Amino acid sequence: MRSFHLRTSAMFDGRSATGPTVVTVTDGVISAVQHDLGKLPDDGVPVLDFGVDAFLMPGLIDPHVHLAFDAGTDVVASLSGADDATLVQRMRAAARRALAAGITTVRDLGDRNFLASAVTTGPVPATDLPEILFAGPPITTSGGHCFFLGGIAEGPEELRAAVRERHRRGCHVVKVMDSGGTMTAGTDPEVKQYSRSDLAVIVEEAHALGLPVAVHAHGTDAIADAVAVGADSVEHASFFEAGEVRAPEDLLNAIADSSTVVSITLGTVPGGPTSQLPAFVLDRLDAMFAVYRSLHARGARLTIGSDAGINALKPHDVLPYGVQALSSRGFDTREALAAATSVAATVCGVGHRKGAIVPGADADLLVVRKNPLDDLARLRQVLAVFRAGVRVPDAVP
Ligand SMILES: [Zn+2]
Repeated sequence: MRSFHLRTSAMFDGRSATGPTVVTVTDGVISAVQHDLGKLPDDGVPVLDFGVDAFLMPGLIDPHVHLAFDAGTDVVASLSGADDATLVQRMRAAARRALAAGITTVRDLGDRNFLASAVTTGPVPATDLPEILFAGPPITTSGGHCFFLGGIAEGPEELRAAVRERHRRGCHVVKVMDSGGTMTAGTDPEVKQYSRSDLAVIVEEAHALGLPVAVHAHGTDAIADAVAVGADSVEHASFFEAGEVRAPEDLLNAIADSSTVVSITLGTVPGGPTSQLPAFVLDRLDAMFAVYRSLHARGARLTIGSDAGINALKPHDVLPYGVQALSSRGFDTREALAAATSVAATVCGVGHRKGAIVPGADADLLVVRKNPLDDLARLRQVLAVFRAGVRVPDAVP
């Protein structure tokens, strides 16, 4: 049995903050959480003391990444030019970069040839990587968004078969492209790719197999369909319609009443080539956040995913910038941290063991230099990262 105590002056447990804390880790799992101890436990177990300012929190969870995209200036060409072995190596490096920044779980929402599975089953110890949940190639239409990843399926029979294949291959989620996207020429983010009944077939088959469904939906009608058929998350949720942002009241209420989580796409490194963000997206951000605040006020569940990898503004450790961006847009810092920990864990189906510092949870932990609730830029001041109780050696200093 391998145990240690970890002492910090304050902690965020996934929902709220507390003062001085001693967390005990045993065999990769949190075995005890104690507060306000006058002195350290005198039980001979090693103590890691990070000093008076250090702040402990659950490792960050990014529910929307693409390990196979290299965050360069032409990610599609770069992916197409790489064979599978090369791609797996790149994906592993991308995953390690995320882990070093304290992102201890990533959910890959679109790879090629189910290669995320190869990343997790390779020769690298599990504690050298974040926990990787994956969708495999996104289900899409012929010529549809990200068709080049290989997930083309159309019509009820092919769609059911595609879902069953993902289940057979160990996927943790089914990803479906129900609108076009900005990176695929010939597709339109406002235009739906599947009928509502086709989408319902995917959700029905996936849920029967115990798999959640994440629906890529920029367009307002695609979002409405995803909610109507009981999708587990709407990715991007841009509410694009007729050249602007449109979110009818009845749709906002339907989202709030549903179990569908809205996954806002956030996080870009400052100072990068801004030409990589389409002008029409930048122009609409204010309107989109007015919608997100309205959803939040109605009680809808919101999380953030970075879409890491898809362009040069989104390296695989970009999520902390997304947390900061959420708070700069009218969410308080505690809500922003929860979005990237406890809420994200629930979205990813691992809420019973991730995203919270409670006995029984995986010891996926992030220690930062000072309290990030006062300034979320401090999320990037990493002191230590633990993955299943093992300290990550190359955490960002
Ligand atoms: Zn994506």
